[in-house]
Amino acid sequence: MDGKLVPWDDAKIHVLTHGLHYGMAVFEGIRAFSTPDGTAIFRLEEHIERFLNSAKIYRMDLGYSARELSRACVDTVRNNPAKECYIRPLAFTGYGEMGLNPLTSKISIAIATWEWPAYLGSDSTGKGVRACVSSWVRIDSRAMPVQAKSAANYANSALAKMEALSGGYDEAIFLNTQGVGAEGPGENIFRVKDGVLSTPPASSGILRGITRDTVIQFASDLHIRFFRNDATKEELYTSDEVFFSGTAAGIAKVREIDGRRIGYDGTPITDKLIKLYDEATHGRSKRYSKWLTPVSK
Ligand code: PMP
Repeated sequence: MDGKLVPWDDAKIHVLTHGLHYGMAVFEGIRAFSTPDGTAIFRLEEHIERFLNSAKIYRMDLGYSARELSRACVDTVRNNPAKECYIRPLAFTGYGEMGLNPLTSKISIAIATWEWPAYLGSDSTGKGVRACVSSWVRIDSRAMPVQAKSAANYANSALAKMEALSGGYDEAIFLNTQGVGAEGPGENIFRVKDGVLSTPPASSGILRGITRDTVIQFASDLHIRFFRNDATKEELYTSDEVFFSGTAAGIAKVREIDGRRIGYDGTPITDKLIKLYDEATHGRSKRYSKWLTPVSK
């Protein structure tokens, strides 16, 4: 916290922390995996770059360089016992002056890690999860900067998540203000139709996921035909395969949307991508070792 390693129970803030009241917080979600050479962080550089860009969009000066933030993530993982963990860097307007204007608040930064198995459960790489199209529309980039991973955006996500869970589903799918599929509350979305993989373009108002980028790279390396393409709700329903991608969720199969079963002939393309993601993150593929930052515990 603010440059020091502190014990879990001491990582506390005041109730009048500005960001807690007005949503001025940006964060990242990163994972460290166990590899044959020890613990390593997957695509740390890209996550830190997005963290800095989120802060820039919100005019937050973090006061640390990308190198310093990366090193702080490595140090936090090193000083915790887990071999595999989720890493959460968070920057927020701190305790000081109340009132909406964030520019008078000092920025606090914390990095926490914890053990977090696949966010959508063990079905996500097996039989798949059940999703619903949310009645909540994804926030529009004219109202909120969707490319900034800001805490405020997750109020929209939380509404969709609660709606999905209370309806008996595992996850929600947002349509955007144009009425086409955008993303999940904490994941990007992909579909396969007739052997062609697609995902909505960044212009659909999505967070540019780092797992999404990883999947796009895999598709190219595996010679899978791929396009950035919008999909309507009915195109999602009639896909051969659908999956979510995200750091917390990994690559998570969707077996059903709004009670419509997805595909009939298995999930051959998703399965290949899940296997490669598992190999790349766990340091079992030389080709992708460039994406791993060792932690040497
Ligand atoms: N969209 C949203 C809204 C998210 O919160 C996330 C998780 N960060 C993603 C997509 C996937 O991003 P990533 O693959 O970088 O975790």
